Amino acid sequence: MHLEDMKKEIESLVLEKGFYNKREDIPKKLLFAFIELGEASDAWKKGAAEEKIAEEIIDVIFYLLDASRLACPSVNMDETFKKKLSKNRSRPYQYGEGHRNK
Ligand SMILES: [Mg+2]
Repeated sequence: MHLEDMKKEIESLVLEKGFYNKREDIPKKLLFAFIELGEASDAWKKGAAEEKIAEEIIDVIFYLLDASRLACPSVNMDETFKKKLSKNRSRPYQYGEGHRNK
């Protein structure tokens, strides 16, 4: 499943469950993504099963894609992923981690 397909599935779930669905809700959705990141980190720290950690990481992805659906609806996230991956690949080894050599 591609990111754009996932966005459509998430939108369907949001509508079905009556979750927040307005542009003004974007900050909430991004905050929820942070909360899910914390849950993923906590699960890892507590030695949870890989499936539990994976589920929390998927929760993060859900909220991020849901926020993207409202924040930048005309942007194709599959294309954006490909462009960003290419951009990052063109950067030097350990870019942005210059502190490692100090
Ligand atoms: Mg969760």
